[in-house]
Amino acid sequence: MTTDRSLGHSTVLIGDRGGKYPDGNALLVTGRHETLVIDPSLSVIPRCAQLPRIDRVVNSHCHEDHLAGNHLFPDVPWCVHELDRPGFLSLDGMMAIYGFQGAVKANFAQAVVDQFHYVARPDTTAFRDGDVFDLGGGVRVRVIHTPGHTRGHSCFHVEPDDVLYLGDIDLSSFGPYYGDAWSDLADFERSLALVRGLEARWYATFHHLGVLDGRAAFLERLDKFAAVIDAREQRLLAYLAEPRSLEDIVVHRFVYRPQDPVPWADACERRSMGQHLDRLRRDGRVREVEPGRYRAVGGAR
Ligand SMILES: [Zn+2]
Repeated sequence: MTTDRSLGHSTVLIGDRGGKYPDGNALLVTGRHETLVIDPSLSVIPRCAQLPRIDRVVNSHCHEDHLAGNHLFPDVPWCVHELDRPGFLSLDGMMAIYGFQGAVKANFAQAVVDQFHYVARPDTTAFRDGDVFDLGGGVRVRVIHTPGHTRGHSCFHVEPDDVLYLGDIDLSSFGPYYGDAWSDLADFERSLALVRGLEARWYATFHHLGVLDGRAAFLERLDKFAAVIDAREQRLLAYLAEPRSLEDIVVHRFVYRPQDPVPWADACERRSMGQHLDRLRRDGRVREVEPGRYRAVGGAR
């Protein structure tokens, strides 16, 4: 049992095992007129009866672990960034976000429904960057669009308590995840630079960390998190001292460890490291030395 964190009008509902996947940390925000929950995770389900009345569900993006508790609130509005909204309209729309194929896709779609309680909501409403949810009594939740993890991924700033909810910019040692069809490495890097400039008193993440107090702690974790991107790229460059194909890169693994039993690992490696490979080729640091085989130019730096 982990203790929730109360941050003024916000409460971080800490998930089981500290919000480690498949769980996560939801955020409850209560104003004078309205209470909303952001990213109701699996851990919200058993404690639903103890929560105050929820008037709105807000999702940082359309991923299975972030919407696992949405079904508990069928009669209130659900809101997500307009770019991730297709994932809430149908299961097919959601599966397009991941871009998995074959048996991985079929099994994952089943898990999204059976383990994460996915239900489509065709009337899901859309928000955009800068939109504000006014909950009354001076409590406001502002949308900050931070694409990269998904196209619509968004962070939220809560006033007056100065809480920044970072969703899956989760500051974990795993590093940024940009391994889905709708993920984008360059967007993720821009979003990291954007949140680096945001001042807040408290920083909350969906996984692992829970809450960081103050900007110094946030910057330290953010810089380590961002550095994982460069570390992956450097390892790829070193690996490309010999000519390799994208499939060699997928099998070698740069995001997950070879022993990690993750069904979508190949898809994630292909998408993640394919983006690194494209970038290195564009920058002239890697060349296609024979069809489909790539080698670093002049060795790793
Ligand atoms: Zn996610």
